[in-house]
Amino acid sequence: MTSMGPADWDSGRRDPGHRDPGRRDSGDRGRAPASGRRGAHARGPADLRLVWVYPDLLSTYGDRGNLLVLERRARLRGIGVEAISVNSDQPVPRHGDIYLLGGGEDLPQVLAARRLRTDGGLAAAAGQGSVVLAVCAGYQLIGSEFGGEEGQPVAGLEILDIRSSRGERRAVGEILADVDPALGVPRLTGFENHQGVTQIGPGARPLSRVLTGVGNGNGTEGAYAGRVLGTYLHGPALVRNPGLADLLLSWAVGALLPVDPEYEAWTTRFRDQRLAAVPV
Ligand code: GLN
Repeated sequence: MTSMGPADWDSGRRDPGHRDPGRRDSGDRGRAPASGRRGAHARGPADLRLVWVYPDLLSTYGDRGNLLVLERRARLRGIGVEAISVNSDQPVPRHGDIYLLGGGEDLPQVLAARRLRTDGGLAAAAGQGSVVLAVCAGYQLIGSEFGGEEGQPVAGLEILDIRSSRGERRAVGEILADVDPALGVPRLTGFENHQGVTQIGPGARPLSRVLTGVGNGNGTEGAYAGRVLGTYLHGPALVRNPGLADLLLSWAVGALLPVDPEYEAWTTRFRDQRLAAVPV
């Protein structure tokens, strides 16, 4: 992970000609050229800027693996990556391309929501079209409201039209879910560990339909709208589901080249093991 501070991104230290992530007009950064020539689209050290949000509060469940997978799958395609992590006492930069939030325990989740609301950087970036992947506690807190440590309603960031509250039972275990066909992502495998249940408002769509497990608590799992996607899946989600990782990358940089089949064979093997471990 680079040592570059988040302030550098927002103070205009950009590569010449680098597209502002708020203006998704040209759509050509890091995408596959028509010829499909590998590496032809490498365009400098900061083609893709990843922001790992508040690992000091929201990193209880190993979700940092999502960051590593995005970095890896981008680099394998010759896309230059800068990744930074932003702790809760630092400002969230507004010019990242993909923001990642992980799961967390109840109290840190409340604290993270308060600080992110005050900071405003994540909501501003999402409003400009940056990609957001938010997992579990992170998923709940980007909605309008969630249940705090005593079940009290806590205000979220209102980035995604969802509302969560504390359910009666904790949902713990493996989860399988079939993704909204509009997204073209294969079946999801993950691990869930949460008390919250989530309702999806008219401004968002369910990410998937649960086959095994609990998810949102109503037969669906996760939600998305535009380039913002939330899920209850740990595992971490993008390690088990490279198709989901590629969806996020493509939202950020456009169409992608395929990954080297030799590398992909390992990811597929791991994924198949997880899928086979759970009876549908
Ligand atoms: N604290 C939240 C809940 O229990 C989120 C837990 C998590 O991130 N795994 O619902």
